[in-house]
Amino acid sequence: MGTNKSIAIIGGGTAGLSLAHNLSKAGISYKLFERSEGLHNNGLGFLIMANGLNLLQQMGLHDQVCSRGMMIEEYIAHNKKTGDVSRTNIGDCLAITREDFLESIKGTLAIKDIYFNKKLNKIEVDKNTKKKKLTFEDGHQEEFDIVVASDGFHSQIRDFLYPNHPKQLVKYKEVVGMCFDKEFVAYLKNQFIKFNDPDNGFNIGIIPGNAETVLWFVQFNVDKIASPENNQEAIQQFIKEISKDLPETFRNVLNNTDADRLYLWTLFNVDLVESFHVNDIILLGDAAHPLLSFTSQGVNSALEDSCLLSKIIINNESFEIYNEKRKPIVSEYLYGGRDLLDQFLYPDKYESFKVPFIQLSK
Ligand SMILES: Cc1cc2nc3c(=O)[nH]c(=O)nc-3n(C[C@H](O)[C@H](O)[C@H](O)COP(=O)(O)OP(=O)(O)OC[C@H]3O[C@@H](n4cnc5c(N)ncnc54)[C@H](O)[C@@H]3O)c2cc1C
Repeated sequence: MGTNKSIAIIGGGTAGLSLAHNLSKAGISYKLFERSEGLHNNGLGFLIMANGLNLLQQMGLHDQVCSRGMMIEEYIAHNKKTGDVSRTNIGDCLAITREDFLESIKGTLAIKDIYFNKKLNKIEVDKNTKKKKLTFEDGHQEEFDIVVASDGFHSQIRDFLYPNHPKQLVKYKEVVGMCFDKEFVAYLKNQFIKFNDPDNGFNIGIIPGNAETVLWFVQFNVDKIASPENNQEAIQQFIKEISKDLPETFRNVLNNTDADRLYLWTLFNVDLVESFHVNDIILLGDAAHPLLSFTSQGVNSALEDSCLLSKIIINNESFEIYNEKRKPIVSEYLYGGRDLLDQFLYPDKYESFKVPFIQLSK
């Protein structure tokens, strides 16, 4: 079993590292190229839902990942307009910082297979040999039989395969932050707390990320609230203003966050590409299908992609299987996310609100 073909993985985020983990376990060689000096920590943290946790179990990573994060037991939503407080049990769900998550996968890999500071600049396909020639920013060139594009939301390889594929800015943005506060984590007690202000067009969510880290985010409708400039001072001022009506303990967490732990996230709607592979170039994770943050399926779907793709590579099967199996599932995340966005942007159209993340019953 396996393949003798040479494999390049571009991007060391969830998708690239988890594929590398599965290939390593099966004794298949690869080279992983990551543009950053170390792991790229934008995004700060995320929720891993039941589907992602099941896959981590199959990969043998469940316990070590869970030991670094916090299980979330309850989602508590405060609605400013109605004054209602709703409580939902969200089943298996782990909150974790991006750094803890990626480090726990990277720790299982042989460091000789990972090349940092290697930004891919160009990919060319030789018409005769079908080899893919990769050119990196530092001038290094190398040829591969198989190229896996796990280079994230703004994938250059997706642009290479589908040069005119449209993406539209969506009418919301997100500020995320990460604050070190042990006492507040103890106070949160495994709860995901959200303050929804539909009339004014914003939500504020707060989650424990590990025993001493609080992860938080502000989603805001850019038609109702002017976005700050993308610099730390402007973001801090924005957070001060938007959090002014929160209970004091919550407000302090947002306002005590270090400026270098704040991140303004601009989101796009990207339709599904025609196929998640073109011959032996395969798109994985956000490179294949950027999702809106409302889905909470970015990381989980990246794990689903990499687990399926590694099986296909190990069994020497056609990449068409990957496309056929992933399309219907990813469509559900994509369109489910757009429904949740509509609910957020136009709350008056809705009598009741769906819980703002997609938990598929599997
Ligand atoms: C603010 C924020 C909050 C989020 N919250 C959640 C959540 O709650 N739940 C959830 O499931 N998901 C969440 N996500 C989404 C989640 O982070 C992504 O969906 C997930 O990381 C996808 O993994 P990926 O490996 O496809 O892409 P990424 O994690 O983006 O990794 C791509 C990697 O490729 C590298 N790269 C890019 N271009 C090149 C190049 N040219 N050459 C070499 N390397 C390159 C990048 O440096 C990066 O390391 C969030 C994202 C953000 C930004």
